[in-house]
Amino acid sequence: MTAMSANGSRRARRRGLGERWVGSVVYPLWAWREHPGYGRWRRQFERSQHWPAERLRAWQEERLRGLLEHATARCPLYRDRFRAAGLDRSSWQAGWARLPLLTKADIQAHGAELEAADFPARERQRNQTGGSTGSPLQFWVDRRRFASRLASTDRHNAWAGLRPGDWVAEIWGHRLDLAEGGGWWQRMRRDWLYRTLEINSSRIEPGDWDAYVAVLRRYRPRFLVAYARAAVEFAEFVRQRGIEDVRFEAIITTAEVLLEEHRRLLEAALGGRVFNRYGCREVSVIASECGAHTGMHVNSEALWVEVVPAAGLPAPWGKIVVTDLLNLSMPLIRYEIGDVGRWQEGDCPCGRALPRLAAVEGRTTDFLRLPGGEAISGPALTLVFADLGSVRQVQFVQRGDGSLRLRVVPGAGYGPEAEAEMRRRLELYLRGAVPLAFEPVAAIASEASGKYRFVVQEAAPA
Ligand SMILES: [Zn+2]
Repeated sequence: MTAMSANGSRRARRRGLGERWVGSVVYPLWAWREHPGYGRWRRQFERSQHWPAERLRAWQEERLRGLLEHATARCPLYRDRFRAAGLDRSSWQAGWARLPLLTKADIQAHGAELEAADFPARERQRNQTGGSTGSPLQFWVDRRRFASRLASTDRHNAWAGLRPGDWVAEIWGHRLDLAEGGGWWQRMRRDWLYRTLEINSSRIEPGDWDAYVAVLRRYRPRFLVAYARAAVEFAEFVRQRGIEDVRFEAIITTAEVLLEEHRRLLEAALGGRVFNRYGCREVSVIASECGAHTGMHVNSEALWVEVVPAAGLPAPWGKIVVTDLLNLSMPLIRYEIGDVGRWQEGDCPCGRALPRLAAVEGRTTDFLRLPGGEAISGPALTLVFADLGSVRQVQFVQRGDGSLRLRVVPGAGYGPEAEAEMRRRLELYLRGAVPLAFEPVAAIASEASGKYRFVVQEAAPA
C-alpha cells in the first residue's frame, strides 16, 4: 500500500461536486421532509448567535416561563416540586435556586410523572442513553424537537467549517448510535445523505485501524468527529506508523474530557484545529468551541445551562445543570447531567455573546475524594504525568475506604524510579491523606459505552 493518496496532495481539499450536491439539494430536501421546521430553526440560530446578551436572555426567559407553565400544569412531578418549593408563576425567578435538581435516578424512578399529560403519542419519540451504571435511562423527545436539535448541531458544526454534505470520519463508541451491519439502503443513506465514515471505538481490534485508514484514503474526509480518547488512540496509531496522508481540516472532539496535551497531539498528528464540544443524548449539543478556541459557547437558544456549586467541589467548579427550553413531551428542568464544569469569564474574541463553559472536568465521579471533603479533578491530575515518557496511560481507582490505586500502562523505561517520581508529584496534591499503590497493567479498557474513565470509584469492601 502506498503511503500517499491518489494525487499525493496534503493540502486542504476543495469541496467536491458530490459534497456540494448533497449539501445543497439532498440534505435540505431530506430535512424538509423528515424534520419540518429545520430550515426555520437553522436560520433562527444563524441570526441569534450574533444577538447581544440581553436579547438572548430575553429569548431564554420567555421560553423558560412558557416551559414552567406547561410543566406545572401537565407534569405531576414538577407540579409537586414547585408547590413544595413555594414557587408560582410570579416567583419562579427569585426562588429558582430552591427548585431541587432533577437527577438520573429521579427520571428512572418517576419517568411517568415527568411525561406531559395529553401529549399526542405520535408527536413524541422514545430515546435512551446507555447509562454508565448499566441501567439505561429512557426519556421522550418531541418529534419537532429533532428539527431544532439538528439545526443546533449544524450551526456548531459550521463553526468548525463542517457543512451538510461534507464527508466526515467518525470514531464513535456508543452502540446506540451505530447501525450494525447495514444493507444497501444504509449504504445509500451513508453515501448520499449523512456522509459519515464510522468506526466503533468501543471495540477496536488488531487490524481495524489499518482498514479504517484505507477507507479514509479512499474518501478523504476533511473532518473528523470523535470521542476524545478514541481520537487520541487513532492519532497515536497514525504517528507510530508514520502515516502522513491522513489529515483533517478540523477535528471535533466530544463526549469526553479533552486534555490540553491531547489537543496538541491531535493537531500535530492529524492536522487541522481541534474544536471541543460538549453534549449528551438527552439534550444534544450543549456547548462547543468557535474559531477562537477560548471556551465552548453554550447552545443558549435551546438550553438554559447553570453551573451549580456543590459540596466537595472547589469553586469555581460546579455541577452542570441543564434545562431544555424546547422539549415539552417530557420536560427536563434543572437536570443534573453528572458532569462538572466552570464558566469562562470575559468576552469571546469572535463577538458572540453566547456564554462559554471554560472546561468540563468530567463526571462528578471523575473526582478523587480526600478525607477532609476536598475533591481533586481526576482528568487534571492525569496531566501531572504528561511529560513522563515512561507512562503511557493512567487511571485512578479509589476504594470505599479512600485508598488509591494508580493503574499505569507503562512506556519504555518504566520502573521503581518512575513510580517514585509519580508518587512525589502526586503527594503534592494528596499530602499523605490517603494510601497510594501502583498497578502496572497492559491496557486500560474503556467502558461499554466507549467512554474513558479517569477515576473508578469502587464500593467499600463488605
Ligand atoms: Zn467565540
